[in-house]
Amino acid sequence: MKYYSLNQQSPKVSFKEATIKGQAPDKGLYFPESLPRLDKNWIAGINGKSNAALAFDVIQPYAGNDIPEDELRRIVAETVNFPSPLVQVNDHIFALELFHGPTLAFKDTGARFMSRCLGYFAKERSEKITVLVATSGDTGGAVAHGFYDVEGVDVVILYPSGKVSSVQEKQLTALGKNIHALEVNGTFDDCQRMVKQAFADESLTQKRVLTSANSINVARWLPQQFYYFFAYKQWSEKENPPVFCVPSGNFGNICAGMLAHISGLPAAHFIAACNANNVVPRYLHSGKYEVKEALPTLSNAMDVGDPSNFVRVLQLFGNNFINLKKMLSGYTITDAETKDTIKKVWEKTGYLTDPHGAVGYLSLQRYIAQHPGQKGIFLETAHPVKFYDVVEPLTGEKVPLPPSVERLLHLPKHSIVIDAAYPALKNYLLQH
Ligand SMILES: *Cc1c(COP(=O)(O)O)cnc(C)c1O
Repeated sequence: MKYYSLNQQSPKVSFKEATIKGQAPDKGLYFPESLPRLDKNWIAGINGKSNAALAFDVIQPYAGNDIPEDELRRIVAETVNFPSPLVQVNDHIFALELFHGPTLAFKDTGARFMSRCLGYFAKERSEKITVLVATSGDTGGAVAHGFYDVEGVDVVILYPSGKVSSVQEKQLTALGKNIHALEVNGTFDDCQRMVKQAFADESLTQKRVLTSANSINVARWLPQQFYYFFAYKQWSEKENPPVFCVPSGNFGNICAGMLAHISGLPAAHFIAACNANNVVPRYLHSGKYEVKEALPTLSNAMDVGDPSNFVRVLQLFGNNFINLKKMLSGYTITDAETKDTIKKVWEKTGYLTDPHGAVGYLSLQRYIAQHPGQKGIFLETAHPVKFYDVVEPLTGEKVPLPPSVERLLHLPKHSIVIDAAYPALKNYLLQH
């Protein structure tokens, strides 16, 4: 498979090059030159396949030229080695739990796949590759765990001191080995600015191979298709396919789901569930795409004012607004509605959602109220314990810590404190 830049000003590249580069030189996002099709028999036989075999078949057309079959099978098996259960919440609504990976967020799947691909590509090179990433919380942990102990790859994570939760901080700082945490005396925006300056600094990039691990990387985006197929495998009414409702921020996750659908995954409809950061739902109503500053909300991993992957969604539909609207609806959920949903769903059904999942649940419920007879799945993208400060006052109960998190909290923190200024980052990168 070749990948072209959606800005059309850069040459086509292989999967390997797209993974190492992240973004095209013309600042466009890479997009596959053709969309693979899974045939009807493959879909009909889905329940006879293991998750690893199924995921391999999905990703093989995208990566198969650059990674030999046995390596790709190993990478995929390691990526999907935790469950993604589909849990029934009420008559019409199911939760696809994507929080059973090492950092309790759906980003584990993309991070695990990308890290292993990059690790494979690093073996062929003499130089180390450095993954440089700024995080406001979740991305850093998933990237740290994904790349932990991957040979030939160093990871440098910048996070704002005192502004990530204690669980998130331990996920970044307790691992050690090839994972280096820089605790920045500043904000997330400072961290992001410093990382951007590093990528643009040729005097640095000539000395050190830098790559990013954010969600625009094809090796993080494409494997997110896997769990949509795992959901369909667990769906009992195969002749009545589900509506998929996806809590969305940068739109990488939902875009992967729609790509899976175009490749053959049965789905009735897709819903972009958003918080107050609702550029896309407003676009779907008015046809006007108006970017806004990000607003802080309770579902903070979706606080994105200008979703970077939406250009890929548009491309999937050939930039045809009418076709897009047939397949995609958008809903906006306020913080008050998010809290109310966490509380009501818990009281009525005993199912505990996190704030992101709650935005998904309520959006799906609204869609079903307008389309009686439909049933659907919302993606539960994070474990509620990550947001215990929001959830516990609503339910009046403690969210039990999973044993993996319990262990992590007892490990020592290792971070290097630096100033919120680019020279501090550059010095670090040149000296380590
Ligand atoms: C990143 C994230 C999202 C948003 O996913 P996108 O692919 O950026 O749309 C939703 N929920 C959680 C918990 C996340 O960490």
